[in-house]
Amino acid sequence: MEHCIFCKITNGEIPSAKVYEDEHVYAFLDISQVTKGHTLVIPKIHKENIFELDAEMAGPLFQSVKKVADALQSAFSPKGLNLLNNNGETAGQTVFHYHIHLIPRYGSEDGFH
Ligand code: 5GP
Ligand code: ZN
Repeated sequence: MEHCIFCKITNGEIPSAKVYEDEHVYAFLDISQVTKGHTLVIPKIHKENIFELDAEMAGPLFQSVKKVADALQSAFSPKGLNLLNNNGETAGQTVFHYHIHLIPRYGSEDGFH
């Protein structure tokens, strides 16, 4: 997709802080860190939302989410971790290339107890 910022990130046109990459998936730090280590996991091919995502991609994508979750746990030792995925403008989606947020939680310092 020509004008998609996340496609530009996966193909290197826009720089990003890479966390993980494999054949199907790219993971990078969110530019606006809700908490330390806030990461986005995306499919390399452009799919707008979960409804467009091929069912066969769901497995590899979630396996990557698991790897990134473990890496964030080892790196930052958060007390918890939120997985978040907004689908559609009404649901809060602002970038229309499918992505899963991983948001480490540290307790009172980030407002979650
Ligand atoms: P959404 O609101 O669609 O679930 O999340 C989109 C996320 O993409 C936001 O948290 C936003 O900070 C992040 N984002 C938007 N543009 C860029 C960018 O150019 N680079 C990175 N690393 N993150 C971005
Ligand atoms: Zn895209």
